[in-house]
Amino acid sequence: MTQALLGGLVSGTIYALLGLGIVLVFGVARFVNLAQGEFYVYGALLATTLVAAGLPVWAAALVAVAGVAVLAAALERLVFSRLADAPHASQLLGGIGVALAMAGAARLIWGTDERSLPELVPGPPLELFGARVGTQMLVLFAALALLCLALWLLLHRSLLGMAMRAVAALSGRAGILGVPVRGVTTAAFAVAGAAGAVAGVVVTPLVFVSYQSGLLLTVFGFIAAAFGGLRSVRGAVAGGLLLGVLEAMTAYFLDSALRTPIALSLLVVVLVYRARREGAGGSPFGARAPRPSERAELPAVAVPSLLVRLRSRRAAGIGVALVVVFALAGPALLPPYWVAVWSFIGVFVVVGIGLDLLLGYTGQLSLGQTTFTGVSAYLVALSVQWWDVGAGVAVLVAIGGTALLALLLGALVLRLRGYYFTLATLAIAIAAEALVNGLPGLLGGPSGVGVSTTLSLFGFALDTQDRLFAATWIVVALSLLVALRMVRSRFGTGMRAVGHDEQLAAAAAVGPFRVRLAVFVASSVLAAVAGVLYAHLLLFVSPPVLGFSAGFDSVVGVLLGGFGTVWGALVGIPIVRLLPELGEDVARYQLLIYGLAVVLLVLAMRGGVVGAVRAVAGRLAARISGPAAVVVPATAAEVVPTGPARVRDVAEAPALRAEGLSRRFGGLVALDGVDVAVRPGRIVGLIGPNGAGKSTCLSLLAGSLGADTGTVALGDADVTRLPADARAGLGMTRTFQLPRLPADLTVLEVATLGAYRLGRTGPLRGLLTPTAAERAGMRRAGRDALELTGIAHLADAPAGTLSTGQQKMLELARALAGAPRVLLADEPAGGLYGDEVARLGAVLRRVAGRGVAVVLVEHEMDLVMEVCDEIVVLSQGRVIGSGTPADVRGNQEVLDAYLGV
Ligand code: ADP
Ligand code: MG
Repeated sequence: MTQALLGGLVSGTIYALLGLGIVLVFGVARFVNLAQGEFYVYGALLATTLVAAGLPVWAAALVAVAGVAVLAAALERLVFSRLADAPHASQLLGGIGVALAMAGAARLIWGTDERSLPELVPGPPLELFGARVGTQMLVLFAALALLCLALWLLLHRSLLGMAMRAVAALSGRAGILGVPVRGVTTAAFAVAGAAGAVAGVVVTPLVFVSYQSGLLLTVFGFIAAAFGGLRSVRGAVAGGLLLGVLEAMTAYFLDSALRTPIALSLLVVVLVYRARREGAGGSPFGARAPRPSERAELPAVAVPSLLVRLRSRRAAGIGVALVVVFALAGPALLPPYWVAVWSFIGVFVVVGIGLDLLLGYTGQLSLGQTTFTGVSAYLVALSVQWWDVGAGVAVLVAIGGTALLALLLGALVLRLRGYYFTLATLAIAIAAEALVNGLPGLLGGPSGVGVSTTLSLFGFALDTQDRLFAATWIVVALSLLVALRMVRSRFGTGMRAVGHDEQLAAAAAVGPFRVRLAVFVASSVLAAVAGVLYAHLLLFVSPPVLGFSAGFDSVVGVLLGGFGTVWGALVGIPIVRLLPELGEDVARYQLLIYGLAVVLLVLAMRGGVVGAVRAVAGRLAARISGPAAVVVPATAAEVVPTGPARVRDVAEAPALRAEGLSRRFGGLVALDGVDVAVRPGRIVGLIGPNGAGKSTCLSLLAGSLGADTGTVALGDADVTRLPADARAGLGMTRTFQLPRLPADLTVLEVATLGAYRLGRTGPLRGLLTPTAAERAGMRRAGRDALELTGIAHLADAPAGTLSTGQQKMLELARALAGAPRVLLADEPAGGLYGDEVARLGAVLRRVAGRGVAVVLVEHEMDLVMEVCDEIVVLSQGRVIGSGTPADVRGNQEVLDAYLGV
């Protein structure tokens, strides 16, 4: 028991050592460095080389640590600094690319052997509390303690440390204080590199190291860091030790096979628990407001003209047809060996299409997608073995079971976002592989299980390689069709909105969680279908397909082809899968090539191959035709109501009524018992000095912030407990004070997103029924809103190219496109000039004239006085006056608080 505990402390110390570097870099640069484990590997391997060259082990260790620090600093300058503002998925992929390239280079330099270092302090083991403690273990503990001390001194007692903490606290804005942010960030990487190398040289006398050790070490370091909250040195140490001890105790009391799965499951639970507790506010666990540059998302290259769209639609048809031709003609054209190779490629293309839906459209990077492929393959094999069912039932069990698993897991891990979601998928993949490996009796263990069934389709047995090949590629064609339909449907609009900005999505009545869950399940079903094919192609399933390196390969493949294109998988997966077929020599360079390719793609060609082709095609088409106007078939307009009935009865009940709304932020009472009621067709102005609580009030009404007390009713319906997207769905739409516009969507696309609530079809109905009319109706509503706000001439411009005033108008257009019953407008006149303000006033009056109840937060007093029927004055979270514009103008308290300023 003591020995087991000691073993746990040793592994825990290793995890903690790795976690320290990750915490430091994340703390300073908000960057999750997935290459941290490589610093360990390089430190260790470099030291072995120096020792072999005759250096004493201590000297070798010191030189190695210094060398890796320099390497880390160089990598920061070359690669990581360029990803500082990229979306988190790009950052993670960039880190993976660097890690793969470093592992590939290490393979070329040091070969594939496992190596070890001599002990730094040789000596006989000591006897402590009945356990044998090697001196190297003591070195390990001492190293952790010293490293912590050194970091503490660095951070709290040195100028560089102060600068690092300033950068951590203020991120980009530390420059204002005269802190050289770039230099400090580079220094943080150097220190992290040194910390990683220290871990390598102190651990390697105990544990062998090879070129491929890095990734798993990173993962465990990341887990240690995440246990402690990713930003705290103390947390990382505690997290690492806890993880090590937990593993050791699981192995001691239960079964060593359960060690990793239990520790990792616990991690996922801890993360989800923390995410729930910390809520959606600015914490790293919740949805945070995207930085402006983050809007230039990883995937799609915007293709503005309809011409290209029509063409690409026809091109899509041709593409799918070609895949079908390949499915049918392939076996005749290809030698048997290549039929087999291309069959597996087809399988992973199907997985990749699902990955693209997940990352390319909703912005979620999953490294565990092939885990679902594996689960499905295992379910096929085992359901036959256990229950002796036929192939048909086995397939149903496999796909149904995988979908159910995805639903359950998704309900849990989709509460996490960004890095944390990716980490959870990674943890699940590793846990699944370890679990199956550890259960030889039940699940076949490392040697796997055989598949004895033959698939058949409509009585046609798929009993030869050729037939399976054809079936696989037909499935590829079907998957492409399904994915294309999905992303082009109303639901696809929602997917993209969620990928860009969840707050924006919710304001447009798109439920972010539901969309993410639906896409997660859909992509898992694709993975499961691939799993069925995989099992029957290989006639055998073993644990590696469950693990994360298979998941990695698929992500790299789709990245090569391009995310956010649907076609990316079809282009990129074959590249990844064919590379090893080029022979032994290429195989040696494979990791390095992969890694460099990933880095270059993430840095340079965000749209991948398909994106590049599309961009060129788009430019060519634009040159040939000039910017084409989007033509909406007029007949489709009836599908969607383009505006509410024109009712204007002043005696009517309020369309919006809120009572006793309060909200505090920490000790600050931002809003304190505010009532608002607006009747249809009326405009209520909400005014007050900066910080009065106006935006907070609007967010409480819209549901994007939770109220501490108070109720909100929309017509007769109490919506107090409904989230923002549901309130928007019921007809309360809003604009944001700071426009939330995905830069690479066109103006019309943004406006059309606002019409989301007018459509009906969800993900399934969108696949099965014709939806062209609905989409045309939504576009018509979007276009009408652009006409109303006077920016129709900009319909095809990317939203990112608009002036501030135009952006404000687009916000308004988006909110109006949903034909709202209640409109909440947050300072729509901010950034408008001259005529534009007058036009805004006219637009608001027309909107009210259609029976919409409007809440107008505004500083532009002339506008407020002119268009409002009633004014509510807020100051320090309280209503200090209300009435008609004339009343308010005559109210001394109001004048003192606000207008006098
Ligand atoms: P207004 O829109 O009237 O200028 P806000 O509603 O934006 O005012 O802010 C009211 C007060 O609440 C301000 O003191 C502001 O600093 C604070 N506040 C607003 N949002 C947050 C938040 N997310 N976290 C902490 N404090 C906030
Ligand atoms: Mg405000």
